[in-house]
Amino acid sequence: MRRTIFDSDHEQFRQTVMAALERDIAPRVEAFERQGHIDRDVFVQLGELGIIGIQVPEHFGGGGQRSFKFNAVIFEASAHTRIPLGALQVHMNVVMPYFLKYSTPAQQQRWFPGLASGETLTAIAMTEPGAGSDLAGIAAAATPRGDGGYLLSGSKTFITGGYNADLVVVVARTSAEENRRSGMSLLVVEEGMTGFARGRKLSKLGLGTQDTVELFFDEVYIPPDNVLGETGAAFTLLASNLPQERLSIALSAVAMSEAALTETIAYTKGRNVFGKPLSTFQNSKFELADMGASVTAARVLVDHALEALDAGALTPADAARVKLFTTELQGRVVDRCLQLHGGYGYMREQPITRMYADARVSRIYGGSSEVMKLIISKDMGL
Ligand SMILES: Cc1cc2nc3c(=O)[nH]c(=O)nc-3n(C[C@H](O)[C@H](O)[C@H](O)COP(=O)(O)OP(=O)(O)OC[C@H]3O[C@@H](n4cnc5c(N)ncnc54)[C@H](O)[C@@H]3O)c2cc1C
Repeated sequence: MRRTIFDSDHEQFRQTVMAALERDIAPRVEAFERQGHIDRDVFVQLGELGIIGIQVPEHFGGGGQRSFKFNAVIFEASAHTRIPLGALQVHMNVVMPYFLKYSTPAQQQRWFPGLASGETLTAIAMTEPGAGSDLAGIAAAATPRGDGGYLLSGSKTFITGGYNADLVVVVARTSAEENRRSGMSLLVVEEGMTGFARGRKLSKLGLGTQDTVELFFDEVYIPPDNVLGETGAAFTLLASNLPQERLSIALSAVAMSEAALTETIAYTKGRNVFGKPLSTFQNSKFELADMGASVTAARVLVDHALEALDAGALTPADAARVKLFTTELQGRVVDRCLQLHGGYGYMREQPITRMYADARVSRIYGGSSEVMKLIISKDMGL
């Protein structure tokens, strides 16, 4: 179905992104998977091409674009070229908005040039060993020092991009409040601060290029200039970006489903069973046609949500609907595509096997499917 949300600027940008991924990153993906992270020079290259800083204001060296469609182009390209860029996705789609929206002029001077050039990488640390879905249950705490600064202690886990990050936005309790959602702040921890340590890169089911780490904070001094946004308002600040974060996962889920279908169509055409191509059996055709129709519907939904996000009209409940629908669909699509590969679908060298493993987390991170259902049912008055 013809897409109507992109104009010639987006398509030109898509060419730039596709060329960079295929020329500069694709040959190194296996090495990145083995080491469990993407080398920093890749992000600098993406900075030089105007990709990583596309949303940073122009006077700091960025592209000055407000539309999220440019970000959508990047992560569709990542899925279609089968180059997972999870840390970049979190950096650009999840963390950058907090810097763009809440930095003071002095913080902008300090951090925006590096964010535009790709030399400064970020991560966001909400999840803890004892608190994931229930963010208000976090234990990381920062004690006021009297000079506007804090002493931060606690630990975080599952932090995407945490291995490379120069700036980690840490969600910590800065005051004890009766309402559990109050009294939390966004504190920016910088590489090299005393008491800040990175743990091991966690061994995951999929997404091998994406570093996911534990982080530890032992009385890390946070100067007043490293508080991001209003003190005590972290819950509200985080909620403001949830529609974008969830749409970001949804658009990747759809693009990864498309990639799985493309891969499987090619596989079934090349594989002979009972003397003829697998693609000629009615079951293969019906499976692929059924999935194709569902993925097209999901694509239309995501495109509609992208327009809504750009117009400032994507509600948290609608973003939850889009994430739930597209990620659950992705799970079904990769499973059925793998089935069409037979035993080869279970072998790690097959792209579909990797897609199957990579897809599993879409229904968990950025808020699990169950949490999406809680949000949607509340919106339905339940
Ligand atoms: C690869 C990866 C990357 C990640 N990157 C980041 C990151 O960069 N930064 C970060 O802060 N976090 C990150 N996370 C953490 C992620 O957001 C959490 O894993 C997720 O929010 C779920 O939290 P949990 O793992 O503690 O599960 P839990 O909250 O313990 O949930 C366990 C199960 O209970 C269900 N459940 C929870 N509450 C309810 C309820 N009220 N009703 C019904 N069911 C419920 C959940 O849906 C789930 O099925 C990442 C996780 C992964 C796996």
